[in-house]
Amino acid sequence: MSRAWRSVVLSLLAVLALGWGWGTLYGGGAPASPPNHVVLISWDGVQREHLLDLLGRGNLPHLSDLMVDGAFVSLRITDHATDTKAGHAEMLTGLGPEVTGVYSNVRFRAIPEGLTLFERLKAAFGEEGIATAAVTGKYKNLSEILANAKSAIDKGSIEQVEADEVGALALQVLDAYQDRPFFAFFHFSDPDHAGHARGENLAEYEQAIEACDRWLGEILARLRALGIDDRTLVYVNTDHGFDEGSRRHSDAPEVWLASNDALLAESEAEGDQKDVAATVLARFGIDPTSVEPPLPGRSLVKTVTALAAVERDLVYATVDGVDLELDLFRPTSAGPHPAIVFVHGGGWQAGDKANWAEEAQYFAEKGYVAISVNYRLAPEHPFPAAVEDTKAAVRWLRAHAEELGVDPERIGAMGGSAGGHLVAMLGVTDGSEGLEGTSGDLSRRVRAGQGALPDERRDPRLPASRVPRAQDRLSAEAGEDRLTSPRREGVMPRDTRTRP
Ligand SMILES: [Zn+2]
Repeated sequence: MSRAWRSVVLSLLAVLALGWGWGTLYGGGAPASPPNHVVLISWDGVQREHLLDLLGRGNLPHLSDLMVDGAFVSLRITDHATDTKAGHAEMLTGLGPEVTGVYSNVRFRAIPEGLTLFERLKAAFGEEGIATAAVTGKYKNLSEILANAKSAIDKGSIEQVEADEVGALALQVLDAYQDRPFFAFFHFSDPDHAGHARGENLAEYEQAIEACDRWLGEILARLRALGIDDRTLVYVNTDHGFDEGSRRHSDAPEVWLASNDALLAESEAEGDQKDVAATVLARFGIDPTSVEPPLPGRSLVKTVTALAAVERDLVYATVDGVDLELDLFRPTSAGPHPAIVFVHGGGWQAGDKANWAEEAQYFAEKGYVAISVNYRLAPEHPFPAAVEDTKAAVRWLRAHAEELGVDPERIGAMGGSAGGHLVAMLGVTDGSEGLEGTSGDLSRRVRAGQGALPDERRDPRLPASRVPRAQDRLSAEAGEDRLTSPRREGVMPRDTRTRP
């Protein structure tokens, strides 16, 4: 297995939340309606090391493609036999065997009613609110543990044998549910069969995994053809690994999850197999700790769980026929929240609100309402146009404080270069200087200001000191503990994207 390639896999990065348009999923409380589509695919008995080896050799092109904007996460089985029934019980419930009663292929019962993802999603969204489907391989194995869940599975087809049978049925599910929110589970059992028949290190095992990959390619192609690929999260994982070089999987706890989910928090640290179900629920806007019994796993989509919504290009004022726009980032938690106004740099002549999107998102995830603003640019709009506009943005925030959950007494601002200047002007002028402009009429004064000069935020030679400095100020205003730099903390998406 190629270590170097593995590190490339593990560094596949999550792009920003925003591209997905899933932000609005996380409005506080129970979601009103399921937002999108989730496909959970199980490749039965695929050893993690062998999978990474195949990826490194370029033998799984579709899984590689899937992860280009997503991630690969190493998971571990910690509390049950490394076999099909126990693995799938945990994958589909997020619960251990002490709750599901599924300890192994021979020590099991039907999972008690209400615990599977199918049932939880139906309970959350209603019978008509979401479509569910399960297409599984392996005679009896999964139908036995899913016996109580069958009424919550709209399209069920159990006990296929070959990947080709499962794959063809999977495409029918996508066709049937393309216009509805759905959760679909597809189970390809071929690798497990081949491993038992021939052994983990033999060609037949690899061919079976490659057959799964070909069907993944068909599924992705169908999603594209139906025009729903950008609204469908695809998670591929395995129920258990395989003993090295063996025809058994008696001690094979190293499993994995690969996805196109741009928000999946890839991690060198291992997650638990229980995290898969928690992640799926979180992606449907359901807090995995709010269900009964609460799921012990954690959502692997860590950075978005607190991000309620991103709204782009909101017009906060129109001056001289120019629409002035801002992007709004909101947290899920109940307000009132402190707020931050981000002001981009660019010598007063260039730049865009998108320049501060990452920081705005970061702070929204930490419980701030954040806006990143555009303002009129020179030389077409000379001083004090930019100052007036920035002040108008603060007034807009204040005017909408109640509906946005903003505490109007805790509004801060942050900017780089020309944006730093504009933030300073917010802080030091109070209306007596004639710089207020004509948009709105509420107080625009901010309580904390932080300029950053020069505007070389991406320059690796500079320490990442601006954000913490501003955070100290803002945190003091907000009465919160000091936060650490999003970059140091490693929760911010990185700028480089690597394709295997
Ligand atoms: Zn097996």
